[in-house]
Amino acid sequence: MHERSLIRSLLEHVAQIQNLHEGATVSEITVELGPLSGVEPELLRSAYGAIADSNTKLIIHEVPLEVRCLACESCSSMLRFQSICPLCQSTELQIIGGDAFRLLHVTLNEFPQAVSHECCGESTGASIAE
Ligand SMILES: [Zn+2]
Repeated sequence: MHERSLIRSLLEHVAQIQNLHEGATVSEITVELGPLSGVEPELLRSAYGAIADSNTKLIIHEVPLEVRCLACESCSSMLRFQSICPLCQSTELQIIGGDAFRLLHVTLNEFPQAVSHECCGESTGASIAE
């Protein structure tokens, strides 16, 4: 199951971050999910619920797809992939965002304060579904 392997690699990544903050517990994991990541948010949530520690909350940011038109050079965002530029009807579009499942940040509880570990947009390796 695709979502389970994504969650496993996500949790491995989070565990590495947690190791950098000794004694900390993870309270929240925030991920970004684009329409072309090939991942269904509901399947992701249920896979997460089956595998992860129930004290850690998963927050899914669903982002629109970002495309750039090669003909008129405008950028558009769309919730579902359309292969036509909304402005000039060209079909030469380049995908510039929203095609990934990636870790955004992890909130750790460290005494005495909570810290947020920002992840600099590393892709978790989800591939683009054609
Ligand atoms: Zn265009």
